Amino acid sequence: MFLSRIFQSMMGLSRSTSTDKPLNFRGIPTAACPNCGGEWFNVAMTFDRDTYDIDAWGLDAECFGCGTLVTVVCPVDAVERELS
Ligand SMILES: [Zn+2]
Repeated sequence: MFLSRIFQSMMGLSRSTSTDKPLNFRGIPTAACPNCGGEWFNVAMTFDRDTYDIDAWGLDAECFGCGTLVTVVCPVDAVERELS
């Protein structure tokens, strides 16, 4: 098991497991992972039943690539960025 983890890490295949504590960057809205730069996240969301488009999403997310905990952006964050 331990050697397997070392091999995965060397090959860039390492992901957080239940025994690894993920980095936590929650609190500052982001569209990219501050740890690895990834732009794909695991996030809770709902779909519009008529259009099948994304209807709503939660802000607590986990980077799909490295497992870092983040707060993802929403349209209000873009407006606030424009005003600052
Ligand atoms: Zn990441």
